Amino acid sequence: MQAVDLLISARWVIPVEPAGAVLDDHSVAVAKGRIVAVLPSGEAQQRFEAREHSRLDRHALIPGLVNLHTHAAMTLMRGLADDLPLMTWLRDHVWPAEARHVSPEFVYDGTLLACAEMLRGGVTCFNEMYFFPEAAARAALEAGIRAALGIIAFEFPTSYAADADDYIAKGLAARDALKEEPLLSFCMAPHAPYTVSDRTFAKIVTIAEELDLPIHTHLHETQQEIEESLTRYKARPLERLRALGMLGPRLIAAHAVHVTDREIGMLAHQGASIAHCPSSNLKLASGFAPVAAMLARGINVGIGTDGAASNNRLDLFQE
Ligand SMILES: [Zn+2]
Repeated sequence: MQAVDLLISARWVIPVEPAGAVLDDHSVAVAKGRIVAVLPSGEAQQRFEAREHSRLDRHALIPGLVNLHTHAAMTLMRGLADDLPLMTWLRDHVWPAEARHVSPEFVYDGTLLACAEMLRGGVTCFNEMYFFPEAAARAALEAGIRAALGIIAFEFPTSYAADADDYIAKGLAARDALKEEPLLSFCMAPHAPYTVSDRTFAKIVTIAEELDLPIHTHLHETQQEIEESLTRYKARPLERLRALGMLGPRLIAAHAVHVTDREIGMLAHQGASIAHCPSSNLKLASGFAPVAAMLARGINVGIGTDGAASNNRLDLFQE
């Protein structure tokens, strides 16, 4: 008999590979934090001596889910200014509330609550964008959940940082302090085309190349974002970001609700990923993302909940 730390025996095991496989009465053996075997439960009990044996006789055991777009600490703003369109919600309610309340303690408490909610719903990794990422990191490590933390950037000041360079410097310092943590990784996270300047986007592209980091941003979330961009930059946001070197396999674009066939083709050709957030898009009256067309073009589409304030849950099964 081989000693393992944990044996989970389930009515069904649904592995990542091969795609579509459903294994009847199988067990997963875990030793030193790694899966060492997936095999029929009868065989597992003969082969493994488990320190802990979990029996899930009526369950399907699935891999941990990835929540591809979150602002975890916004669990503390759940239900705030319900049922308003995005720009009104953000500019008249959320940003003023954040200016009054956001602090490292707020981010730690809100992220810890989000981690509990996500773990209860099968999420084991989240792609995060919020202020004070070192406080979010503390909560994630305490909860034992994997997190990709955003090095966030805006042009305007908040309680976290004074200007875009300050946001980036603080985010990079957090990464330097935490980069050895095995459960944590970092992304560059310029907030959105309507809150970040050309100069800052260009700087972020350079840093992402140097440090080999993904770039996580909101993109083409509302029609208003596109109209404002046409007025201000004489280009749609995606075209503007393409010219700045943002489009490529590093890009994780959250929402992409308003994209033309040509833009879907550009995203596919450049190998960008989309974080599809259907509940958030409906709650904030942003619209429906053309997700079937994206999948048909072979784009890597993941699912995100966005923050609890724009959902109001962190449940990927609901999405
Ligand atoms: Zn978002």
